[in-house]
Amino acid sequence: LSERLSGVFDRLTKQGALSEDDVRTAMREVRVALLEADVSLPVARDFVKAVTAKATGAAVTKSVTPGQQVIKIVHDELINTLSGEGDPGELKIDNPPAPILMVGLQGSGKTTTTAKLAKRLTEREGKRVLMASLDVNRPAAMEQLAILGTQIGVQTLPIVKGETPVQIAKRAKQQATLGGFDVYMLDTAGRLSIDEQLMAEVEAVRDVANPRETLLVVDGLTGQDAVHTAENFDGQIGITGVVLTRMDGDGRGGAALSMRAITGKPIRFVGLGEKMDAIETFEPSRIADRILGMGDIVALVEKAQETMEIEAQERMMKRFQKGLFNMNDLKGQLEQMQKMGGMEGVMGMMPGMGKMAKQMDKAGMDDGILKRQVALINSMTKKERANPAVLQASRKKRIAAGAGLEVSELNKLLKMHRQMADMMKKMGKGGMMKKAMAAMM
Ligand code: GDP
Ligand code: MG
Repeated sequence: LSERLSGVFDRLTKQGALSEDDVRTAMREVRVALLEADVSLPVARDFVKAVTAKATGAAVTKSVTPGQQVIKIVHDELINTLSGEGDPGELKIDNPPAPILMVGLQGSGKTTTTAKLAKRLTEREGKRVLMASLDVNRPAAMEQLAILGTQIGVQTLPIVKGETPVQIAKRAKQQATLGGFDVYMLDTAGRLSIDEQLMAEVEAVRDVANPRETLLVVDGLTGQDAVHTAENFDGQIGITGVVLTRMDGDGRGGAALSMRAITGKPIRFVGLGEKMDAIETFEPSRIADRILGMGDIVALVEKAQETMEIEAQERMMKRFQKGLFNMNDLKGQLEQMQKMGGMEGVMGMMPGMGKMAKQMDKAGMDDGILKRQVALINSMTKKERANPAVLQASRKKRIAAGAGLEVSELNKLLKMHRQMADMMKKMGKGGMMKKAMAAMM
C-alpha cells in the first residue's frame, strides 16, 4: 500500500497542503488495500472517512513527499483504531488466586495459548500458576495440557475421570486456594461453531469461577469469522479481551482492525507460532505496519520531522537548484544524516534499502566516515568551504592534519562533493529536486 500511495502522490507532487483531490485519489487506494487486508467493508468505510477528514488540508512537511505524509496519517489512524483509551496492559491477576477463563472455537489455539500465558506469568512475573483443562469431550485435550505443563514446568490439575466442567472448575479453585497459587487458568472445551449447549456450559463455568479475565482465543487467519465469533462470545459470555493466534501466518492483519472496531474489545496478545515462547503483547503499531505492508517509512517520516529545520532546508534547496553546493551545504547534509541515525539508520528505514546499507558498510561508508568528513570540513577556512576549488596541495595537507586524517581521505571527500554538486545541478534543472531530496532524507 505504501508504495502505491507514494506512487499516486509522486505523480502529483504538489506543494504545501494536501488537496481534496489528492486525498480522494489516495483514499481509493487505502480502501482497496484495507479490503485486501481482510478488513470488513463497514470498518474500511468508516476508517477512510476518518482519515479523509484528517488528511484534507494537512500541511505537508517539506522533507517528505505528500505520499509519505498520507501514509503517516493513515498509520496514525490505524493505531488509533487498534487501541483504546484505558486499554488494560497486563493481565489482571491481583487477589490470588485469580481465575483466568480461556474460551474460543475448537482449534483456535486455546490450549496452546493457556500454556504460553502460564509460562509467561511464571517466568516474567514469578507467579505460581495452576492450569486446568475443562475439556471433558476429548480426553486427549486434557492430556495435551498436562504434557505442555510438564514441558514448561507449570502445574496442571490432576485429571479425574467423569467430572463435569463445573466440577473441574470448582476443584481448580479449591486446589489453587489451598496450594497458594497466584493464578489458575481454565482451558475450556472447544466447539466447531457457536453452539448453544456448549455456550451454556461455558456460562455455567463462568458463574462458578467468576473469572478476573475471560480471554477469547481466535484464529487470526479466519478474518471476518473471527469477528463474528468475538461478537457472539462477548454477547453470551462477556469477554475482557481477545488473543489473536496464528499471526505468524500470512494473514494480513486486517482482522485485528475489524475486531477492535466492531467488538470494542481490546486485543491483548498475539500468538506467533507453535512454540511456547511464541506470544507477544499486542502492539498496534506492528499491526498497522503490517496492514500498510511497508518498511519503516513512518519512523522515517517522524524522524525527518523531528530533525529537519524546515526553513533551513528550504533555503538550502533553493541554493542547490541554482547549482550552488559548497562545503557548508555538504556539512549540513552530513550532519542531518548523523542525526537520523547515520547511513544505516537512514537506509534501513527505506523499504528494500537495508541490503544497500550493508553493502555501503562493507565499502567503508560507515558512520565513522560521516564523522571524519565533518571533521575535515570543520578544519577548512571559511573561504575554502565556500569555494573548494582553491584547495591546493599545501592547504590539503594542513586541513587533513587539522582533522588528524590522511590527505587521501580529504581527496575522497572532495571527489564526493564534486559528484554531488554535479548531480544537484542536473536535478535542479529537471525539477526532480524534491523527489531526490525525499529519497536522500
Ligand atoms: P484449541 O483446540 O483451541 O485448544 O487449540 P490448540 O491449542 O490445541 O491449537 C491447535 C493448533 O494450533 C496446534 O497445533 C497449535 O500448535 C497451533 N497453534 C496455536 N497457536 C498458534 C500460533 O499462534 N501460531 C501457529 N502457527 N500455530 C498455533
Ligand atoms: Mg484445547
